[in-house]
Amino acid sequence: MTPRQTRTQRLAMPFARDVVRDLAVTNGGCIRPVQLRRTDIHTGQIEQVLVPCGHTLATVCPSCAERAKALRAAQCREGWHLDTEPVVVSDDPDDVQLAWVEHRADAQQMGDQARTDGLDETAAELDELSAELDEEITRSGLRGNVLPGRTERRHRSTRRRQDAPDLPRRAVAPRTIGRTYTAPDGKAFRPSMFITLTCDSYGKIGPDGTPVDPGAYDYQRAARDALHFTALFDRLVQNLRRFLGYDLQYFATVEPQRRLAPHIHLAIRGTLSRTELRQVLAATYHQVWWPPTGQIRHDDAHLPVWHEASGNYLDPSTGELLPTWDDALDAIGREDEPLHVARFGPKFDAQGVLGGSKDSARCIGYLTKYLTKNVADCYLATTSAEQAHAERLADALRYEPCSPTCANWLRYGVQPKNAREGMRPGRCTGKAHRREYLGYAGRRVLVSRKWSGKTLADHRADRKAWLLETLGIADTDPARFMWEPVTPGDPDHMPPAQRLLHVVADRQRWHAALINARARASGEPPEDLSATGQAA
Ligand SMILES: [Zn+2]
Ligand SMILES: [Zn+2]
Repeated sequence: MTPRQTRTQRLAMPFARDVVRDLAVTNGGCIRPVQLRRTDIHTGQIEQVLVPCGHTLATVCPSCAERAKALRAAQCREGWHLDTEPVVVSDDPDDVQLAWVEHRADAQQMGDQARTDGLDETAAELDELSAELDEEITRSGLRGNVLPGRTERRHRSTRRRQDAPDLPRRAVAPRTIGRTYTAPDGKAFRPSMFITLTCDSYGKIGPDGTPVDPGAYDYQRAARDALHFTALFDRLVQNLRRFLGYDLQYFATVEPQRRLAPHIHLAIRGTLSRTELRQVLAATYHQVWWPPTGQIRHDDAHLPVWHEASGNYLDPSTGELLPTWDDALDAIGREDEPLHVARFGPKFDAQGVLGGSKDSARCIGYLTKYLTKNVADCYLATTSAEQAHAERLADALRYEPCSPTCANWLRYGVQPKNAREGMRPGRCTGKAHRREYLGYAGRRVLVSRKWSGKTLADHRADRKAWLLETLGIADTDPARFMWEPVTPGDPDHMPPAQRLLHVVADRQRWHAALINARARASGEPPEDLSATGQAA
């Protein structure tokens, strides 16, 4: 007879299901696999295949997030120390893209003709149409402009242009690889760099990253710098390219510091001196030419009202139309200041790194360290000071406009771009306002196009090809199988717990097969290799 257990003892025993889940994770298996039914068209044989969910957050699926991170590390490693120019092949445009460009060509020709004929108004209308088509072309996924030099239609005056940075400018050569140096022993080497940039100071902080005097900490500037961080980084890259005179390539990751401000780690191909970097940083800023937000014109108790017939918002007390986004931009005068000027802080970290060195591996570790976490989860607020700090930043972000289409513009008496019914200040659905993003809604990994000359999908395919080759499995003929999703109503549907058991079994077989394949490759006698299981 088993001895009787106390309640505490029973509670201390692990759940069988948790053990299965942990085992799946330990073996690198996905914990939320998608079930697909695969039918062999030749033989009619049906097989259930569990496909990994592919999530990038460890809180959702640790194994998939870890695999995604490893893939990013591979991408970073491959581009950093390239010594030949990567070959970048553009995809052919699709039909939708071709159609937009054809429309655009027509509009251009008609507009040019109207101008020649002195029909100014018609020409202006056609210019307007061309500008809209340009937006569609960009939205359809084509890069660049059909007419270089013609960027924004709202370009009537120079007042919203970015001031030119005070930097020497060189013509940008098409090469993407840095200089080669020759050591006294004749060996050639091509150093690359690892750089960390931070935002400016918003007030003195303690070792835990929270302000010494919260009242004096500039939360508004912190919020705005985070909102415009991507644009600022873009500007830095442009300036670096002009300053260095070549098509500089980077692999960068954005993550928060303890003080919750974003900072960026970047691997660049080629080097520059600390003095040069300091010079470029000092000359790099991003001006935000948006309408002023200094005055709250409509608080939550007096919100503008939607006018269905005209599709505009009205002032609740006067019934007059609020200025549209375009009107508000036009009202910004020559003597006005930009709403915000984003800059990097003067502190930075920069070190030269050689390909294949220990330093290189360590830096790639840094670069990918937090990729499996949400921005806000990189540093969890545990003390009350940390929680209060996060709270105050979230408050500052609540009514800060995140984009031209942000509902918060109504608070400052301006209709957001593409205004529609039901917009409420403080309730903008933009990612930047959400707690877990801390104001930075951009991508976590920013990779320039000619970094490795490959997309993430290419790197994924490389990895799969390597695995299949190691295992000695030929890639299956895709035309031979029919794939269908399995839904809960289907007789062969597996509930999550059952799927997890299959994942564990698959992974164990797969591991054993991989170990045997490696042993075989190194000349040792293989163990029994009857089972191969599903590929990762
Ligand atoms: Zn997964
Ligand atoms: Zn917003």
